[in-house]
Formats: sequence, structure tokens, C-alpha cells
Amino acid sequence: MIESEHIAQLKRIVGTENILTSKEDLAAYSYDASVTWAHTPDAVVLPTTAEQVSQILKLANENKISVTPRGGGTNVSGGSIPIKGGIVLCTTRMDRIIEINKANLNAIVEPGVVLQDFNIALAKQGLFFPPDPQSFLGCTMGGVVAENAGGPACLKYGVTKQYVLGLEVVLANGYIMKLGGLTPKNRTGYELVMLFTGSEGTLGVITGIILKLMPMPPASRTIMAVYDDVAIAGKAVSDILSSGVIPSKIEFLDNWLIRRIEVLMHLGLPTEANALLLLQTDGTQAAVEIEAQQIVDICKRSNAKEIRLAKDQAEADRFWKARSASFSAIFSAAHTVLGEDVAVPRDKIAQFVQSCGEISKKYDVLIVLSGHAGDGNLHPAILTDQRDKEHFGRALNAIDEIVETALALGGVLSGEHGVGLEKQRFLKKAMDPVAIEIMRKIKGMLDPNNILNPGKIWEEEATDVN
Ligand SMILES: Cc1cc2nc3c(=O)[nH]c(=O)nc-3n(C[C@H](O)[C@H](O)[C@H](O)COP(=O)(O)OP(=O)(O)OC[C@H]3O[C@@H](n4cnc5c(N)ncnc54)[C@H](O)[C@@H]3O)c2cc1C
Repeated sequence: MIESEHIAQLKRIVGTENILTSKEDLAAYSYDASVTWAHTPDAVVLPTTAEQVSQILKLANENKISVTPRGGGTNVSGGSIPIKGGIVLCTTRMDRIIEINKANLNAIVEPGVVLQDFNIALAKQGLFFPPDPQSFLGCTMGGVVAENAGGPACLKYGVTKQYVLGLEVVLANGYIMKLGGLTPKNRTGYELVMLFTGSEGTLGVITGIILKLMPMPPASRTIMAVYDDVAIAGKAVSDILSSGVIPSKIEFLDNWLIRRIEVLMHLGLPTEANALLLLQTDGTQAAVEIEAQQIVDICKRSNAKEIRLAKDQAEADRFWKARSASFSAIFSAAHTVLGEDVAVPRDKIAQFVQSCGEISKKYDVLIVLSGHAGDGNLHPAILTDQRDKEHFGRALNAIDEIVETALALGGVLSGEHGVGLEKQRFLKKAMDPVAIEIMRKIKGMLDPNNILNPGKIWEEEATDVN
């Protein structure tokens, strides 16, 4: 617990209007979009400047008070849960877009800017920021950078780290450090910008971000390919990629999800299909027409049962609604959902999907499959109920085997959601022990009192489960 004198000091730093201490407010910051963890903080502070962040961290560091940085709280790995109590430092009130520079194709933003607001501002100038966590209505640019977020368009455009040119970061001792700059090329010393990108709030608080932008592609076409066999759909993904066409998106939904979304949204989806691929190509009008036809031809050759080429933007938007509804469709279907985020090499998707079917039978649990198939980044989700210990135990065992299968196929533990609390029990299996030790040393050097997001990433530090 932090002392009342610390609360008084925090009030002096941020003003009484920017600190929350009521039971109800603290409860609202005790959880995020992960479902199996929660912990109540002692106070929530909402600073409005980097200088305030610096003073908060100085106070916390001198008094060894835990500080959990937080943006929109939409992460699904437990990253913003204040598992050791202390302060939640929420950056949503630092929400200014400082500059959008079309000539330089870059922008400077504060961390609390909501992704959707950023993209609306960019679209007015014919620009876009491709990483697209599907939580764009609520996630913030600080959270996007701290998670190195991905999303559907990363197949062609890459993940967040490919767009971060510079950062302002407040270190645990309160020092405000500037890294990188306005240029797309910068080979000055070690890539410290990359170190903080994806650091999940454990190394510093991001207070300013310089981002690379892309011109908005003038045209796009969307294709829905319907398959009888999940593994054949998986193979179609590598067939498309090895043909030389790189669509901007290849997304995957399985039969359970197609049916569930259709019940909820009535989009006219093929409910008898065992797998559905949603693909998008973008670029100039002439290029997308050629690429769309190439994709249609490959899908035909790969035994797609039906192929729908969206005739206009309204139909394309309807197709994509199905994809963006996936998360809600899955998470509203059970008391507890264990959602994974593994990535496998793309020529192993079919094998991975097949193994998930076997794991589902072995543990008698429903495994729903969806994800960014173009990146080999799949989100197997197990519908369970934490209150039913027996079922939950089987679900956890199935998750273990899913992760082990992905790693054995040459894949990775997390494609885009990060380690947080949710995946720390797998870290030792997924990473070289020396690499883990190096990460620990970096953490120890930057945050010797372990005040920044303690209890995350490294397993033995987790202490609390909801
Ligand atoms: C429906 C849904 C769909 C999603 N789809 C995707 C997807 O397709 N791809 C994807 O990658 N993710 C996805 N996510 C996960 C999530 O939305 C992203 O990780 C997002 O980037 C988190 O942003 P946030 O502002 O909500 O961060 P939070 O959840 O608040 O925090 C995330 C992490 O960043 C740290 N952090 C936050 N702000 C700062 C800061 N200013 N300085 C330092 N650290 C900070 C926190 O400590 C925490 O560890 C999805 C989530 C939902 C709910």
C-alpha cells in the first residue's frame, strides 16, 4: 500500500482532477482485456505532461512504489494489470497529435492518442499508419508501441516496430530521454528505440512517439475464399505467398466462428464452410485488379469451394466486419476464454491447424481458430470456465500442448500480444536462457528498484491470480 503522504504528493504533481482513489475507480483499473487476471491498484494517476510523468517516477523510485503504465487497457496478455499494486500511470490524457508532416511522411504524437483518432486524422491527408490491432477504437499509440502491436495489414506493411522512428521515454529514475529522430534511416549506435518498442511498460514510460507513415493506397479489392478443409485453406496461404503476390491481408476463420458470427451479425457468411480466408490486395487500381485475379486463380487451384470477389466497398466492408467481430464473438461465448497468439512459419500452418484438431479431441475442449494467417499468426482460443476446475485444467493442458506444437514447428510464443502475465510460464521454453538473462540485466540496469510494471514477463515474479 502507498501512504497517504504519497497520495498527497501525487496530487501536488498532477492536480486533484488527475488522480483516482475511490474503490470504484480503482476497480475499473484492476483488469484489462485478458480474462484470468486482476489486481487493484492503490492509486491511478493520469498525467498530462512528460514532466509530470518524470516527477511521478522520481517519487515512486525513491519510495520503491510499483508503477504500471497503462493506455487503453485493451491488451490481452495482462500487461496493464497492476499485479503488485501501487500506482497505475495511465497516459490517456496525453492525447495530442503534435504534428502530421506529409512531406516527411511522419507524425509526432503523444502516447494517449487513440489509434482510430490518429487514422482519421491521417486519412484527411491521404495517409495511413498500417499496424492495426483490431481494438483500434480504444487502444492508444503508447500501448501500440509498448506492445509492438500487429494486426491484419502487417503481412504487406510490417508491425509497429517498422514505423517507430523516435521515442521520448521517461526512465524509472525520472530522466526524460529522447531517442531516434525524424529520419527513416538512423544508424547511430545501438537500436535503443527498438529496445523500448515492445518492452511492455517494463523499461520506461513512453511520453512521445515519432512515427513513419504510408500514403493511403488508392484502391483495394477484397476476396472471400471458402474451404471444406481447414488444412487445405492453410496450404492455400503458402501457395498464394509463394506465387509472388503479397496481399495486404490474409485472415482466417474456422467453422465454429463463421457460424457464431453469422448468428450474431447476419452477414450472409457460408455457415457450412469449414474454413474461410479473407484476403485483401491494395495499391493502384490497375495493380489490384491483376493481383485480385491472381489470388482468385490460386484459390481455385487450391480447391476453394466458393470464391467471392467483393463487387464494391460496401460488400468488402461487410466481409471485414466478420473478421473484426471475431474477438467479441469468441469472448462472449464462454465464461473464460484462453486466447493464444502463437505464430508458425507459413508453410507449417496446415500442420499446426491439424495438430490443434488432435489436441481438441485429446483434451475434449473446443478450440476455435482464427488469426492473421498471412503472417502464420494464429489465435487458437479455448472456451472454458475458470470456476469448473476440471474443465479449466484440461483447457490449460491443451494450451500447453498448442504452444509446444507451435514451438516444435519453428514458431514463436507470441506473434503480437506480448508476454505480460499470460505467457510468462512459457518463456523458458520459448527463449534461449542466455537471452533471458540479458533481458533481466537490461531491466536491472534501467530499473534497479524494479518499480516499472513489476511481476511481468519473468514467471517467478507473478504472485496473484484472479
Ligand atoms: C478486440 C481486440 C482485438 C485485438 N487485436 C489485436 C491485433 O490484431 N493485433 C495486436 O497486436 N493486438 C491486438 N489486440 C491487443 C491490444 O489491443 C494491443 O496490444 C494494443 O496495442 C494495446 O494498446 P492499449 O493502449 O490498450 O495498451 P494497454 O493495454 O493499456 O497496455 C499494453 C501494454 O503497454 C504498456 N503501456 C501502455 N501505455 C504505455 C506507455 N505510455 N508507456 C509505456 N508502456 C505503456 C502497458 O504497461 C502494458 O504492458 C486486440 C485487443 C482486443 C481487445
